[in-house]
Amino acid sequence: MGSVMIRRGDVLLPPRAQNLEDWCAALGREDLMGEWGDPGKGPDAVTRWSKQKVWWKCGKEECGHRWGATAQVGNRARGNGCPACAGKVPTATNNFEVYCEETGRQELLGEWADHGRRPKGFLRATRRGACWHVAAPIVWLQR
Ligand SMILES: [Zn+2]
Repeated sequence: MGSVMIRRGDVLLPPRAQNLEDWCAALGREDLMGEWGDPGKGPDAVTRWSKQKVWWKCGKEECGHRWGATAQVGNRARGNGCPACAGKVPTATNNFEVYCEETGRQELLGEWADHGRRPKGFLRATRRGACWHVAAPIVWLQR
């Protein structure tokens, strides 16, 4: 069984026993290894099927967001990228406070009544269905 390869599209995937580093190399996604941000273990220490939490660091210099993923790490190679770049988590440049300032709606910040949390820690909600999946807290606007 050790030499069995799994065909997926035009790519011959290595056996499932192989680690994430080898798997990325087999898929031509060595670039993902540049985003590995886990200080506790290397990409050769987890399999692509692993459900343990690992840390990634966005490769874009202007972003540099770090995030942990508990899902199968192999999902990264299928396009699950940086959640900050995808607008799924609040960042210094993408949050409810910035939104209010950029759209001239500072009056909304004046009405902020949640003293435990800051508007910076929220995203503005949109009507797009993707917002149902965001992990971050969001502010729902009436329009
Ligand atoms: Zn990013």
